[in-house]
Amino acid sequence: MSMNLDSRQRAMLAEIGVRVWQPLETEISSGTAAPAITVTAVAAPAPERAAPLTKPIPRPVAPPPPAAPLITRSDSQTRSLQALPVGIAEIDWQGLKQAAAGCQACALCHNRSHSVFAEGSPAANGQTVDWLIVGDVPGDAEDASGLPFDGPARQLLVAMLQAMGLNSRGGQALPDGVVLVSALKCRGSSQRQTSAEEIAQCQPYLARQIALLRPRVILALGRVAAQAVLQTPADAPTADSLPLGKLRGQVHQAHGSAVIVSYHPAFLLRSPADKARAWADLCLGMAQSKAAPG
Ligand code: SF4
Repeated sequence: MSMNLDSRQRAMLAEIGVRVWQPLETEISSGTAAPAITVTAVAAPAPERAAPLTKPIPRPVAPPPPAAPLITRSDSQTRSLQALPVGIAEIDWQGLKQAAAGCQACALCHNRSHSVFAEGSPAANGQTVDWLIVGDVPGDAEDASGLPFDGPARQLLVAMLQAMGLNSRGGQALPDGVVLVSALKCRGSSQRQTSAEEIAQCQPYLARQIALLRPRVILALGRVAAQAVLQTPADAPTADSLPLGKLRGQVHQAHGSAVIVSYHPAFLLRSPADKARAWADLCLGMAQSKAAPG
C-alpha cells in the first residue's frame, strides 16, 4: 500500500515499531524509483514491549461518570438480572449513558464499578464523526476510570492515530473527529471468556451509539469488538470462535459505515510483530475515510 507520509508521521511509526520504506534520493533523482513513500507491512524489530514514546504523555483527567457511583463488592453481588431498559433504540446520548450505568441485563453487571461508555460524543451540529474506535470488554483500568482503552494500550493507540496524521491536540488527548467506545459496557471476568450471549445482550447499546455518531469509518479492535459491530450470529459459542485474522485486511459494511477489523492495542503490546499488520489495517481505514461521503 502506498501512502504519502510526512516526517512526523514516519517518526511516530518508527517509535511504535512499524518500519516504512521510501526510495533513496539517488533512486528518485535518477528516475529509477517513484518519489512516493511505500509503507511496507513488515514486522518491526521485536521489542518485548511497546517501544516507549520519546515524550512522556500525560493522561487527560476525565471526570467519572456521574450516574455510575463506585459499587462495593457486597452491593454488586446483590444485583439481580433484569431485562434491558426499554426504548434503547430511540434514546439520546446522555439517556443511553445513564441506562448503561444502571444496566443489569447480564451477569457482567456484577463486575462493574463504573460502566465504560465512551470518550467523545456526537457532534453538536449533527455532523458525522470521522472515526469510531470500538474496544473489547473493559479491563480493570477501564472499569476504574470509566474510559475505554484506559491503561497501557492507550499510549499505543494515540500514537497510531497520530501516525495516521489525524489532528493531534497534544499529549494523550484524542485527535479531533475520533470517538472511543467499548463494545461491552461492564468489566469482563478474569475467570472466563465473555459469552456470545453477553455480547448480544449489550449490542443494542453499541448499535444506538453508532446510530447517534454516524461514523464515516468504524475500527473494531479485537474479537469481541468485531463480533459486536459485525453482529456475528449469537449462536457462536464464544467470541473466541471468530477468526480475527480472517476478518482483518478487508472492508466490511455494517450500520451504514465502513468497518475495519484489527488487533486491539493491548494485544499489540504483547505481540509487537503484529503492529505492521495493524498499520496496514489503519491504512485501509484511511483510504475508506477519504472515500466516504462527509
Ligand atoms: S455488559 Fe452491557 S448488557 Fe451486560 S450489564 Fe453491562 S451494560 Fe448491561
